[in-house]
Amino acid sequence: MNDCIFCKIVKKEAPATFIHEDDQVVAFYDNYPSAPKHALIVPKKHIESLENTTEKDNELLGHIQVVARKIARELGIENGYKVITNNGPNAGQVVFHLHYHVMGGWKNKQK
Ligand code: 5GP
Ligand code: ZN
Repeated sequence: MNDCIFCKIVKKEAPATFIHEDDQVVAFYDNYPSAPKHALIVPKKHIESLENTTEKDNELLGHIQVVARKIARELGIENGYKVITNNGPNAGQVVFHLHYHVMGGWKNKQK
């Protein structure tokens, strides 16, 4: 996918501030944050959207959930965060490489 911005970020051909990298995914800060803390988790493999996944992606999709927990801790928002994927243009997807938004930091309620 030569013109995919997230493939370029994965290959370090475009800049991003990385928070996490492993053999399956990268995570980096969203460059137009829509929450006080806003990161993106992106599989290294180009998959257009959640709609383009199948059971063969179970391991990857599960892994993303666990990475989301790690990112929340990295961002200091483990006491309250959202994990969201926009699926398709009608849901607001603008980058057609699967990604999960990890967002939080709106408030800091303590027990
Ligand atoms: P979508 O609406 O497709 O779910 O979200 C795409 C997200 O990617 C948006 O929040 C947008 O700010 C972010 N984004 C788009 N291009 C870039 C980029 O080149 N670098 C980074 N760090 N984030 C990007
Ligand atoms: Zn891509």
